[in-house]
Amino acid sequence: MSEFKLARRVADLPPYLFARIDKVKKEVAARGVDIISLGIGDPDLPTPDFIIDELCRSARKPANHRYPDYEGLDEFRSAVANWYGRRFNVSLDPATEVVNLIGSKEGIAHFALAVTDPGDVNLVCTPNYPVYPIATDFADGETVFIPQPESNNFLPLLDSVSDEMWQRAKSIYVNFPNNPTAAMATPEFFQKLVDRARETNTIIVHDAAYTEIYYDDNNKPLSILETPGAKDVAVEFHSLSKTYNMTGWRVGMAVGNPQLIGALGNIKTNVDSGCFQAVQEAAILALNEGDAAVEENRKVYRKRRDVMVKALEKAGIECRVPDATIYLWAKVPEGYTSAEFVTKMIEEKGVVITPGSGFGEPGEGFFRISLTVPTERLEEAASRISSL
Ligand SMILES: *Cc1c(COP(=O)(O)O)cnc(C)c1O
Repeated sequence: MSEFKLARRVADLPPYLFARIDKVKKEVAARGVDIISLGIGDPDLPTPDFIIDELCRSARKPANHRYPDYEGLDEFRSAVANWYGRRFNVSLDPATEVVNLIGSKEGIAHFALAVTDPGDVNLVCTPNYPVYPIATDFADGETVFIPQPESNNFLPLLDSVSDEMWQRAKSIYVNFPNNPTAAMATPEFFQKLVDRARETNTIIVHDAAYTEIYYDDNNKPLSILETPGAKDVAVEFHSLSKTYNMTGWRVGMAVGNPQLIGALGNIKTNVDSGCFQAVQEAAILALNEGDAAVEENRKVYRKRRDVMVKALEKAGIECRVPDATIYLWAKVPEGYTSAEFVTKMIEEKGVVITPGSGFGEPGEGFFRISLTVPTERLEEAASRISSL
């Protein structure tokens, strides 16, 4: 068989973050060990029934079997605008400031193509979701990382970026509540970011996938669009995936600056043909009537969080109590690197966790636990970790 020379963007991809862990996990499973997987950020809870019922009804409508509108159903975009109004007090024009996505990952990846020319610099706040720098790379741009260290409450060190770099940068990627650190942005931080971006004509790309998974009703995560001036410079990516346990459905939205939303829509028109309308109709119902279901979700995660935080404490492992997300971001015990500790946990305890170093250099010394297994399994995992 002939060997083809593949494109640089494929040939140069870094090794898949979880590939090595998967290999160790398989070896351990083959020995008959009962493995508890706290590695992946994929909710185990089912999509609420009323959303599934709506999909079933909508799937039977022949009008939904045809190609969808590229930018999403008018009703979907209106539902997003209404939801943003209700949840964040942010006003959006559904026609120009909202676009439907086949999951927010799709939109985040394609957005880089809409704004990045070869050689352009995009800033990525790290530890980070791996899609941001990869998307920049696919667009032949260059990523410059901004650390968000523990010493700064896991917020980015905006002042570490030189004036020259601010002037040069095309965009900056931020994600709050953060995966993996669970850090939340403050209004002051968002204001500083928006001000800096407006001064230097930098696009803010905010990934807001976890705003609905919060634990303190008096400290709800923010949309960046709540920040005065944000719409001049920002797009925000959101998703039904984590909010309504719909990761497999592939539906999300981008909102914000109309020029940028239009540019993303333009890319999408040329590479995909939109999200199945029956899925959009189910998503509309979720956005309109899903608040109670999300509250139930939060209750489940809150309980799991409390169980795990307590267990880690008992095991002498340092961990901040997160106010949001489905993750715990905990400190690796003295004497190990992230990768060593994670390997040891799988090999000796059958517990799969994620090394912080996989999310970027400032993640070294940490590991991430996903609260995506039932409480009994979390308790079992916790007892194994504490017998370290
Ligand atoms: C899960 C997740 C998303 C959502 O992805 P979808 O494509 O909408 O399922 C986006 N960003 C981050 C940081 C995530 O963890």
